[in-house]
Amino acid sequence: MNATKRRAIFERLRDANPEPKTELAYTTPFELLVAVVLSAQATDKGVNKATATLFPVANTPAAIARLGVDGLIPYIKSTGFFNNKAKNVVALSEMLVRDHRGEVPRERAALEKLPGVGRKTANVILNVAFGEPTIAVDTHVFRVANRTNLAPGPDPEAVEEKLMAVVPDEFRMNAHHWLILHGRYVCVAKVPKCPACVINDLCEFKHKTRLVDPRKVDRVAVKAPARRATRRARS
Ligand code: SF4
Repeated sequence: MNATKRRAIFERLRDANPEPKTELAYTTPFELLVAVVLSAQATDKGVNKATATLFPVANTPAAIARLGVDGLIPYIKSTGFFNNKAKNVVALSEMLVRDHRGEVPRERAALEKLPGVGRKTANVILNVAFGEPTIAVDTHVFRVANRTNLAPGPDPEAVEEKLMAVVPDEFRMNAHHWLILHGRYVCVAKVPKCPACVINDLCEFKHKTRLVDPRKVDRVAVKAPARRATRRARS
């Protein structure tokens, strides 16, 4: 894909949603960190439901550490993988209290040392909480980048590197949000909504869906390349 097309893609996504925001509910960097850790294999809506009951009770590292794993589980059970998530959230809270005076660090290396925090989560925190122009590559971003040929790559790290190299500076701060929302609501995994897509003519996916009969849209086939790319992002 050439630079003109890439720029046009981001101009269209920006025009459609000039101020994209995360769909996770949070008021502090720590609340965002907890919400992102809980969002693994869960929907933002499900996480928001859980944190709506948790945060009024405990929304600081010290409070979550006091709650402990057993005390935290009832609040986050609905988000799935709750044993592991509870262990990580309590352990990262203890580390924040012990090593960072109860504050979420702004440095990537320090963030990635926290239990349950990998590169993707660190990128989200750096971008959303601290305004750094990072691009977190989750399953949606990975799929959109590969399908469209915007920034193809065999794994999330390669896609992130490519996006950082090719996304024009003016779009970098919001690129993660635009791509994630596009993947979540339009360029969805099974049957992308190509007929309704604002970047349809710019996208280089070879198996775009067509709206032949609106009643049959859910049955439009998507061929192998899209499914393979999605599997790689999940693995
Ligand atoms: S045209 Fe289809 S495959 Fe391409 S970005 Fe839009 S929804 Fe995704």
